[in-house]
Amino acid sequence: VIEIGQPEHSVVTTCAYCGVGCSFKAEMRGTELVRMVPYKDGAANRGHSCVKGRFAWGYATHRERILKPMIRSKITDPWREVSWEEAINYTASEFKRIQDKYGRASVGGITSSRCTNEETYLVQKLVRAGFGNNNVDTCARVCHSPTGYGLGTAYGTSAGTQDFDSVEDTDVVMVIGANPTDGHPVFGSRLKKRLRQGAKLIVVDPRRIDLVKTPHVEAAHHLPLRPGTNVAVVTAIAHVIVTEGLVNEAFVRERCDWDEFQDWAAFVAEERHSPEAIAEYTGVPAAELRAAARLYATGGNAAIYYGLGVTEHSQGSTTVMAIANLAMATGNLGRRGVGVNPLRGQNNVQGSCDMGSFPHELPGYRHVHDDATRAIFEDMWGVTLEREPGLRIPNMLDAAVDGTFKGLYVQGEDIVQSDPDTHHVTAGLEAMECVVVQDLFLNETANYAHVFLPGSTFLEKDGTFTNAERRINRVRRVMPPRNGYADWEITQILSNALGYPMTYSHPAEIMAEIAATTPGFRNVTYEMLDERGSVQWPCNDDAPEGTPIMHINGFARGKGKFVLTEYIPTDERTGARFPLLLTTGRILSQYNVGAQTRRTANSEWHKEDRLEIHPHDAENRGVRDGDWVKLQSRAGETTLRALITDRVSPGVVYTTFHHPMTQANVITTDYSDWATNCPEYKVTAVQVSPSNGP
Ligand code: SF4
Repeated sequence: VIEIGQPEHSVVTTCAYCGVGCSFKAEMRGTELVRMVPYKDGAANRGHSCVKGRFAWGYATHRERILKPMIRSKITDPWREVSWEEAINYTASEFKRIQDKYGRASVGGITSSRCTNEETYLVQKLVRAGFGNNNVDTCARVCHSPTGYGLGTAYGTSAGTQDFDSVEDTDVVMVIGANPTDGHPVFGSRLKKRLRQGAKLIVVDPRRIDLVKTPHVEAAHHLPLRPGTNVAVVTAIAHVIVTEGLVNEAFVRERCDWDEFQDWAAFVAEERHSPEAIAEYTGVPAAELRAAARLYATGGNAAIYYGLGVTEHSQGSTTVMAIANLAMATGNLGRRGVGVNPLRGQNNVQGSCDMGSFPHELPGYRHVHDDATRAIFEDMWGVTLEREPGLRIPNMLDAAVDGTFKGLYVQGEDIVQSDPDTHHVTAGLEAMECVVVQDLFLNETANYAHVFLPGSTFLEKDGTFTNAERRINRVRRVMPPRNGYADWEITQILSNALGYPMTYSHPAEIMAEIAATTPGFRNVTYEMLDERGSVQWPCNDDAPEGTPIMHINGFARGKGKFVLTEYIPTDERTGARFPLLLTTGRILSQYNVGAQTRRTANSEWHKEDRLEIHPHDAENRGVRDGDWVKLQSRAGETTLRALITDRVSPGVVYTTFHHPMTQANVITTDYSDWATNCPEYKVTAVQVSPSNGP
């Protein structure tokens, strides 16, 4: 029995793990956090939580956390602990030296989807106003950038259309490439509740996720598609809707571009898009697909929820637009119970995109080409802004290898572990002259850094996160930063040392600037958030109460846009050497690369990543359950234990990627989404063979 004592006071704040954005009461004794209690008035969770938010916060006080700045002139030198002043002055002088020698565009920054909106806003401001270029990118590049592109193109807003409450009015739920009970557990529970009440479920996923069959819930249809064939399957669903006369013509005529719709309808009606034509190469039985399409189109209010199984493909943006087409064609938009809803992975991936983290967009998804938008920020920031888009993360690394990109400021992101083609990432970092990592722990990227600036946890700062339903939640300081500064303060100090002044005394002032420059945030203030608890953007004079459901009276872009979604097979092909397809996902107790959760008691629940393999494929290779196996791809190899299961189909293997030893990204390819460069993590041709272990 552990004596935890009685809390003396509590602070309401927001979970820093997934995009559900649960509210918690952090119960304190002095400056010691006693426990996290799910907050019953939290609009996203209503008193519920999962094992991550509730128990996995001990990393904040973990002994491996770095609390003092460190520098070194070469990455082969040992680290030297220095004062904050020395670390900041060293960084500023290195960045100035690099820009003097190699030009203004030779440096850049990466924002974090784990940090607050205010911190992200400051990093992109530092890059644009301080560095004088648009070389800013975000870790959303490797997860939901196709959502931004696809939904922005179709509807005019790069965000999910509904609030979580909307699911209570849903009759048909289609889950595509997501595993809500593990990845977004609190919303997954709400989904299950609605399914137990009688809503019908369609699952489109290569793997038999829990939702397919769990106590009191059974999917009406599971379409176990071959990884990489999303576009073909979603377009075939559209084929059935169009050719069987299931289009909501009144909705399309009123809300969408009719000429574009007609072109699209003729395109999807082609026989090559029929369920029968695609059955063999997608692995989805035609009759099952037809039945699923009819249910989606005729079963009442139908909502689509999707995840990284949609976006992390060479056709990620195309699939998002194919999904957007389905909802428009059936009129499933603009009211409760329907919609298109990306389940965001990280706590603030929505916010990091909203805040202008992409090299072509200023806050509020406005292109840097747009003179009027630049003028707003030029007035506010007192500088002339670059009008050409900057470099994306992979382009920064390419330019580093070519010798033209020399300095990088990375806030809260481990690109060596998270980004594809690890060898390319490390080659780029090795070619730079000053890499600055601001993080909690010495992560893999820090191995290539010259400066380490200790970052702060969500418990040590004020700010806001924006969840998957566009809900802006307050993050409140629970304890003083053990490293000395919140992340936004570090960026501000660095900017001042570089000669671009920032003088914020509290994140509320940063939010005031965001509101002044960004129409969707115009009426957002900390006072309002404290009073109401949270608000969903857009929140402005047109929507003073915020916007739980988008596109009620019309799309943000005017008429909804139908896009022709031609299926183009990935270049990653199976063959004699690599006959299996690897896809990846998450487990409930762990989070992403595990940097936080592995440093908490949650590590007891998932000590290693396993390779799920179908019994036939295991038998063919002489592999027994629990055996070590070698997993090889064209890019590299790794070793892990086998888990024999028919959750995966023959020809498909699956693993989680929470432990560094798994090195999943050593074996993934460098193929990426055609529109956004989002890596194709979900399709890798591999071979599996017995091994004696690592
Ligand atoms: Fe945190 Fe997501 Fe779990 Fe909620 S569901 S407690 S936001 S990890």
